[in-house]
Amino acid sequence: MSEHPTVDLLAVAAHRDDVELTCGGTLAKAARAGHRVGILDLTQGEMGTRGSAEVRADEAARAAGVLGAQVRLNAGLPDAHLVNDHSTRVKLVELLRTLRPRVVILPYPVGRHPDHRIASEVARDACFLAGLAKYHPTGGVEPHRPFKVLYALAYREDPVKPTFVVDITDTIDLKMAALHCYVSQFDGTTSAGEIFPTGQDLYELIRVQSAHYGSLIRRPYGEPFFTYETVAVDDVMGLGVQSM
Ligand SMILES: [Zn+2]
Repeated sequence: MSEHPTVDLLAVAAHRDDVELTCGGTLAKAARAGHRVGILDLTQGEMGTRGSAEVRADEAARAAGVLGAQVRLNAGLPDAHLVNDHSTRVKLVELLRTLRPRVVILPYPVGRHPDHRIASEVARDACFLAGLAKYHPTGGVEPHRPFKVLYALAYREDPVKPTFVVDITDTIDLKMAALHCYVSQFDGTTSAGEIFPTGQDLYELIRVQSAHYGSLIRRPYGEPFFTYETVAVDDVMGLGVQSM
């Protein structure tokens, strides 16, 4: 049953290129640190205005290689028609039990594109259900519930403070190189997904946004995340980020 290796960190998103935009630097950093990294795209992007599903598959595979991800799977769910229903949850539960991530990165629960909101909700539900032994038992694959769920907060304009920012200064070049794999989606554009146009080239806009998140932790580049849980600290003397 386990045709794919298990992973430590799994990023789940609605569309190919979503994880590069919101957490590509974090994935590359985790891979560089020796963690096994996986990406699960829920749809094949067949409703996208630009680029065919085949072209986007090739671009996504190359981007995964740039980030150092060991596994990139596609759930083959219908683009622009994602729903949080029984069959979708069962499919995601089976994938989560196969990949067995300890940490999962999901889209933020609020988003302009309905797929982004629904991907967040259905993937979170699947993370819980995957741990229930009697939920849709799958032959030979043990139940598994991820320990931690993180929400990628990049580009959101809601008044939500990041729970933490990952310093991606050392991997911003890999994030940008992964984004440059999506020639069909991004070359010559000024907006993408949840990123509204400012008139700047999209790649420059992403770099500037990453610099903003980095500035929140007094570093050149960063990616912001939200968790519903509170972050624990052992020693307040070790806290970083200067207050004044
Ligand atoms: Zn998307």
